[in-house]
Amino acid sequence: MRSCVLARGSRLGSIGLTARPPALQQGVIATKAAVLAAPYDMNIKDMDTPSLGGDKDVLVKVRATGICGSEIHAYRGKHPRRRPPVVLGHEVAGEVVATGRRVRHVKVGDRVVIEPQVSCGVCAECLAGNHNLCSEKKLLGSSEWSGGFGEYVVVPEETCYEIAPDLPMHHAALAEPLAVGVHAARRLNTPPDHRIVVMGAGPIGLLTVVALRSVGARHIAVVDAKKFNTEVGLRVGASFGVHVTSAPIEEAVKSQTGWSTVDIAVVAAGNPSCVAGALSLTRAHGQVLLLALFEEPVSVDLMHIQSRELYVSGSKMYTSEDFRTAVEMLNAGQVPCDEIVSYAVSLQDVPAVMRYLNKSPEGVIKVSVVN
Ligand SMILES: [Zn+2]
Ligand SMILES: [Zn+2]
Repeated sequence: MRSCVLARGSRLGSIGLTARPPALQQGVIATKAAVLAAPYDMNIKDMDTPSLGGDKDVLVKVRATGICGSEIHAYRGKHPRRRPPVVLGHEVAGEVVATGRRVRHVKVGDRVVIEPQVSCGVCAECLAGNHNLCSEKKLLGSSEWSGGFGEYVVVPEETCYEIAPDLPMHHAALAEPLAVGVHAARRLNTPPDHRIVVMGAGPIGLLTVVALRSVGARHIAVVDAKKFNTEVGLRVGASFGVHVTSAPIEEAVKSQTGWSTVDIAVVAAGNPSCVAGALSLTRAHGQVLLLALFEEPVSVDLMHIQSRELYVSGSKMYTSEDFRTAVEMLNAGQVPCDEIVSYAVSLQDVPAVMRYLNKSPEGVIKVSVVN
């Protein structure tokens, strides 16, 4: 055990629905939230319970919120959209406790997971069905939309997806990062015989492995500098867990898989050497997909792309269709959730946990905040 606030599995067996929250008088009852006031400065504060802004809004009692790598970027002041002061948290599952007058598809008591984006609906990207690319969209867990590091969130009803009665809340909250993997898999052409390398075995890399397996990929190597993560990679469906101890990454991949090239490389860690390794390993006419967030501009050798006619593209969040697919996979029990959620903590512990996760500790895939 590396930190007193993290107790492996200590609450994982006992969460789920406990007593219903008391009837809410909106704006009156003080509720707690972990507020990021400035980079590296997060504290628990009393807030007013958020009120329903519109007739189609839903008030959700947060039961589980996954802590995402993008929250760590935000904690460092490095996320372009999630800037302090902010209540972070966008991987949210909970229970509906109040609904606006015109809400039709959700009712009090429903167990839901939230799609944490609302697009404008009228721009060219929205009209083309790419609402993940809408430049006007609002993100849950940003200064314009208070997130799941608080006891309650207010969300439009169309962002709520019902979850199976037996799906634990901290598993349901994985719908968000899994949807990222589902979208990535959809952005690629993945015949079953293709050899795929996934650079980075954090939650996004691992859930991308799960999503790739679900669309038929059979030969996946997942790569990480942390041995624990590569071992989890094997347990969630990768054929190889490549543990990299020294640069260059491509040599470790070749020696530990026996592959001289790959057909597809997915960059799921924002480390420049992962991009270099991906470009260098991918065969002529192969595909490279950039999925990670990069805190700084990355310098790469473009000759890899030119000389082997590589197809390099990006993948950003997900569409509602991807999110629904992720929820369906979770509801059907097709996701090895307990491999991904390493620890459960309480809201009170979030500031300490963020300090801890900022050091990129070994032995942790994802931490879930459970209430
Ligand atoms: Zn996330
Ligand atoms: Zn739009």
